[in-house]
Amino acid sequence: MSLAAQIEDEERQDQIRMLIDSAAGIAPRQGDFSRLRGLRFTQPGIDRATWSRIAEMGWLGLRLPEDAGGAGLGALEYAALACEAGAALLPEPLIEAQLAIDMMGAVTPPAVLTGDEIILPAWASVPDGLDPAGGVQVEGGNRLNGEKLFVPMAEAADRLLVTTGEGMFLVARSDVQVDSRPTQDGGHLAVLRFRDSPATPVPGSPGPALEAAALAVSAYLLGAMERSFEITLDYLKTRRQFGRPIGSFQVLQHRTVDLKLQIEITRAVLRDACVAMDDGRNVAAAVSRLKARAADAAMLVTRQAIQLHGAIGYTDEADIGLFLRKALTIGNRYGSPDWHRARHAELTGDDIAEGRIALRQDPAPLPAIEPEPHQDLNPLPDLDFRATVRRWIEANYPPHLRNPQRRLHIAEGRPWYDALSRQGWLAPNWPREHGGMGLSPAKHLILIEEMERHGAARLPDQGITMVGPLLIRHGTEAQRAHHLPRILSGEIIWCQGYSEPDAGSDLAALRTSAMREGDEWVINGQKIWTTLGLDGDWIFVLARTDMQAPKQKGISFFIMPVTTKGIEIRPILNLDRHDEFCEVFFRDVRIPADSIVGEVNQGWTIAKNLLGFERIFLGSPFQATGALDHLTRLIRHLGRQDDPAIRVMLNELRMELEDHKSLYTTFADQVRRGESLGPDVSMLKINLSALYQKITDRMIGIAGEHAALLDPLQDDRSLYPASAFIQARPHSIYGGSSEIQKNIVAKQVLGLSETMR
Ligand SMILES: Cc1cc2nc3c(=O)[nH]c(=O)nc-3n(C[C@H](O)[C@H](O)[C@H](O)COP(=O)(O)OP(=O)(O)OC[C@H]3O[C@@H](n4cnc5c(N)ncnc54)[C@H](O)[C@@H]3O)c2cc1C
Repeated sequence: MSLAAQIEDEERQDQIRMLIDSAAGIAPRQGDFSRLRGLRFTQPGIDRATWSRIAEMGWLGLRLPEDAGGAGLGALEYAALACEAGAALLPEPLIEAQLAIDMMGAVTPPAVLTGDEIILPAWASVPDGLDPAGGVQVEGGNRLNGEKLFVPMAEAADRLLVTTGEGMFLVARSDVQVDSRPTQDGGHLAVLRFRDSPATPVPGSPGPALEAAALAVSAYLLGAMERSFEITLDYLKTRRQFGRPIGSFQVLQHRTVDLKLQIEITRAVLRDACVAMDDGRNVAAAVSRLKARAADAAMLVTRQAIQLHGAIGYTDEADIGLFLRKALTIGNRYGSPDWHRARHAELTGDDIAEGRIALRQDPAPLPAIEPEPHQDLNPLPDLDFRATVRRWIEANYPPHLRNPQRRLHIAEGRPWYDALSRQGWLAPNWPREHGGMGLSPAKHLILIEEMERHGAARLPDQGITMVGPLLIRHGTEAQRAHHLPRILSGEIIWCQGYSEPDAGSDLAALRTSAMREGDEWVINGQKIWTTLGLDGDWIFVLARTDMQAPKQKGISFFIMPVTTKGIEIRPILNLDRHDEFCEVFFRDVRIPADSIVGEVNQGWTIAKNLLGFERIFLGSPFQATGALDHLTRLIRHLGRQDDPAIRVMLNELRMELEDHKSLYTTFADQVRRGESLGPDVSMLKINLSALYQKITDRMIGIAGEHAALLDPLQDDRSLYPASAFIQARPHSIYGGSSEIQKNIVAKQVLGLSETMR
């Protein structure tokens, strides 16, 4: 999803679209690279006519306030433009010129904004970081001595803006020795040597402008990633080997999905960094997270682009290599990923040392109301709603059930279940006329976020999330009248009978049969992995009602009490030795004709319709946040919080979790705007599963001999690395395994499939 599509301000959306249109005239996304190739490895390496057009488009004054002759636009607009520049691999030093303009602010010479003069910044004196102070000394207030390093495209500059410990100075290029060396992308980097060079002081401070440049270069890298990915995707669809397009090979499809995921995470993190910059909040930490992610992702995507092209990718002639060389050249500019990770750790270090890793930022104190049972909370503004549900959960949730490390049985969670039922909050998404809260998707999401924030247990909720909505939509009046009130009161608990021993990922291959005999259906077969099957009073089952029809077409949806004669339930211990799921046998189980929901043979379609919301729920950052909290407690328990290696590891995980939250926000915002989620939401669960498991892997890594223990380290189970590790395993299996989710993204988002011919 584009940056413009992710903001609600229509004026800004239009502004961004106009900028992108203007970019098409100068640096077209789909253009060829002949101009770039003509400029490569030449001096000054830029085209002045193009520079004039850049100025005419107003790009150079983009961020300057309007009263200083600029357009006064924000970080999002700047990022959108830089992204287009990156997609076209624009060789002109747009970001560097903008950096100089940002530093000079209102005193920017008008000739710079018209493109007649180019001023480029000379700020670096060491190979890595964002320190503008070193390298050059000031003599008598107007002469410079010393060296500045790594000045991009200095040969193109008319004057240089030099940063020192005593302020900034303008120096004519003719007054400084410029030693340029070519760079991998065909440009150049210069060492500038100052020998009593005449200099004019300029007021201002380089710090914030350097943050904006780091943000812009990240956006440029995102554009470069997007374009190299598009080119690679086209190649996978057209290059044939073994008689078929290479994009039909699953191993390449999955790798492609991994790259797409990196691109989408970078875009989400970029959006959050832009918002931070525009709001002036936590800018440095947000920029560090962005720059680290963007540079690493760009290297990964462009490296893999070469691999996926085979030998042609290794030639100078193929355009795909231009992207790798660009990523190589600018990936470390304005701070390498390692440098930014270290800065992020420094900026947030105290939180880690004090064990305050819980990442959900509390909003400022909010106006909460005392909600009446069954009160319609939809009219409340979102912030008030959040405050209200937060306060109610804090007041009513049984403290001993916070952050359980496994799925609770209904008997354990009953007090909470009953409290929700009494309050009328058990079924947030059901319509109010059916006894639900009737919440909008946006408010439903807030409620889930607040439950997760408090560490509320997920109770057996199949009746609420699956059966209820299905009956409301497809059930008969009698089915609704009988079942909905019993679900809402908590009297009847439901479990889900979909999977079978030979029908897991390929669920439509299920063989449990339902045959019509008179006014009864007779069920035979077996279900397996039925979560909390021992707690269920009723079960809903997908069964085959037409043996001849294509597999998805001959399936129907049935409901029945688990006490029906012929049903046998056997618990299965999971790897954590907990009876989390069951197998369910059906031997000549006779149920009345009206036990079917919806039309005969329509079961597959109606069951599939239910999956939408589950996909964002399963990708929410909740479990990974809890795991990171657990890991932090473990580190403190072991007294290793000051171990530098541990701190590096913890900071990296923390950044990854923050990045995942950015990705989650992308999809949650879609829900909030009332848009339906597309198949790309599968990326959320893929990423969450991998991160959640990685965090628990690290627990085992640092737990030492404790990792072997069958018991928790503490009585309250709050420190139990082995259990946390094991509990994380199924996240990549249930709700559609990670591999199946990758198949979905490859096919439905990227247009790659095994049957491509
Ligand atoms: C904790 C837990 C709770 C569950 N609760 C329920 C429940 O309440 N009700 C219910 O009906 N089911 C439930 N399930 C079952 C779950 O839906 C299935 O486990 C899941 O669909 C995968 O099926 P499977 O286990 O048979 O694995 P398989 O489908 O046999 O897959 C084995 C491996 O092969 C991979 N694979 C399979 N096909 C492909 C392919 N085409 N391309 C690439 N890789 C592939 C899978 O990703 C997996 O890694 C639960 C499972 C777990 C772990």
